[in-house]
Amino acid sequence: MKIGIMGGTFDPPHIGHLLVAEAARDAYSLDEVWFMPSHIPPHKQAAGATGAERLAMTEAALAGHPAFRILDVEIRKGGVSYTIDTVRGLQDLHPAHDFFFIIGADMVEYLPKWREINELAERLTFIGVGRPGTLLDLAQLPDYIASKVLLADMPLVDISSTVIRQRRAEGKSIRYMVPDAVLEFVQRSGLYGLQPRSVN
Ligand code: ATP
Ligand code: MG
Repeated sequence: MKIGIMGGTFDPPHIGHLLVAEAARDAYSLDEVWFMPSHIPPHKQAAGATGAERLAMTEAALAGHPAFRILDVEIRKGGVSYTIDTVRGLQDLHPAHDFFFIIGADMVEYLPKWREINELAERLTFIGVGRPGTLLDLAQLPDYIASKVLLADMPLVDISSTVIRQRRAEGKSIRYMVPDAVLEFVQRSGLYGLQPRSVN
């Protein structure tokens, strides 16, 4: 089977994530896309929502798509997860699958900085999609990486989790930027709002 992995912090998941995954699935006939929230991504600060909340929201976001699945390995493992370690583990478990790692243009730029990118680029193929604000230019990448990046078209969506968190903090609507189920979760749990929450 051809498996796309859609990694991210999903803090919260939004329609940009879903469109990216669907564009990649459609363009390369992926059998499934596994959404994998990361625990503490190496390049990011602490998330606003807990791992359990991000997992629950992501699961809610993709519910109903027959080919989308949730993958909780990195959150279950805890600590800092490097993609190379996760991918080694997945390939040990599923030696017959072909893996594709789906990323937005802002991540494509940073591929040369990913841990053990040489081995990662040997183990899988990246699928890159456009994102407003970043030029997706494979010519900037070393050949051994660029040759392992496929591109998929999608309607560009200028939405980020950061903007959604900011809008919530300002009391603005995020309806239609996130799936309804995510909106309900965020409202019910008071996530990203002005009121401090007790988080343990
Ligand atoms: P944050 O603002 O917190 O960084 P984000 O919206 O960038 O959140 P992430 O969880 O960081 O979301 O991203 C996960 C993956 O989805 C990354 O590969 C990122 O490039 C991609 N992605 C997220 N939003 C978009 C978008 N609107 N268009 C294209 N790719 C996107
Ligand atoms: Mg991001």
